[in-house]
Amino acid sequence: MPRRPRLAACVALAVVLAAATACRSRKAQPGAAFPPAQTAGPERAATPAAGDPWAKFRRVPTEYMGDFGDLRALLPFWPRLPEPGPDDWLTHFPEHAQTTANLLARASARARDRTMGVAIQPILPLDSATTRSLRPAARFLEIVYQCPVRVRPAMATPAAYFRNRKQLDASRLLQMLGTSRPADVWGFAGVTAFDLGIEELNFVFGLGAPDTGVNVTSTMRQASPDPVVARRRMLMTMAHELGHALGLAHCIAGSCLMNGSNHLAESDAQPALFCPHCTAKLRALRGIDPARVFCGLVQFFEEQGLTADRDLARKACEALKNGE
Ligand SMILES: [Zn+2]
Ligand SMILES: [Zn+2]
Repeated sequence: MPRRPRLAACVALAVVLAAATACRSRKAQPGAAFPPAQTAGPERAATPAAGDPWAKFRRVPTEYMGDFGDLRALLPFWPRLPEPGPDDWLTHFPEHAQTTANLLARASARARDRTMGVAIQPILPLDSATTRSLRPAARFLEIVYQCPVRVRPAMATPAAYFRNRKQLDASRLLQMLGTSRPADVWGFAGVTAFDLGIEELNFVFGLGAPDTGVNVTSTMRQASPDPVVARRRMLMTMAHELGHALGLAHCIAGSCLMNGSNHLAESDAQPALFCPHCTAKLRALRGIDPARVFCGLVQFFEEQGLTADRDLARKACEALKNGE
């Protein structure tokens, strides 16, 4: 009998919270999927010293963040995490900060192996918007994770079809992807334009098994009449899920790609970039070069018509280059 994977479900909290919520929750089981070895909740937040750039990062005590060296240059302009509204993620799931030490302690051998990359696995059925976004997604992931990313030929998964629900069974897809994962990847990202469900919930946006680095995302409920918006959602969701595959917990340090989100408006308001805290963690784990990431993103976002993301990337790029 196959072992059921430990799931970090990007499940539809809408099902739990309110049926009308256009949810794009990225994780279920808060506190279970990402138990922090050390935590720093708001109740422990120290009052930052005057002039301390970490003062912008209200949820994380200054002394908790460590010395990020050159990345401190990003703090004065990095957007802070907004106060969560009634429907927002942190109102329902008051998460704690994850330190770099915690990430390094929990990361898998694959996540630590800097020779490994990412493979994207398109899963039929696909629509034209999703198909056209596969190459840009690979390029985006190459820039932010600084590793090889390839797109595999699309696969059909009739055995995962929920015949009575017009959905693919996301749990079954994870099992199937787990058995076909290439040996040279730390992240294996399935993507489909078909709706996803699991036995327990009537739909999910995606599902991940952090222990194996496998995840699956559906673009169906993230669609938009604006193709720029639709593509941005797909890129962000894939990068976010792959962050979990590396062991990253949700971010509460600042506005960030790794923030949890409970609905599309919340995730649309987040930047398509890792904040300075998560960037520092990725540097410690994967050896990424932050200047290369942010400077590479300037051109990418420009090409994609994502001007707000481009402007933030440009500020970060220039701040890091000026600090050299
Ligand atoms: Zn998440
Ligand atoms: Zn972050």
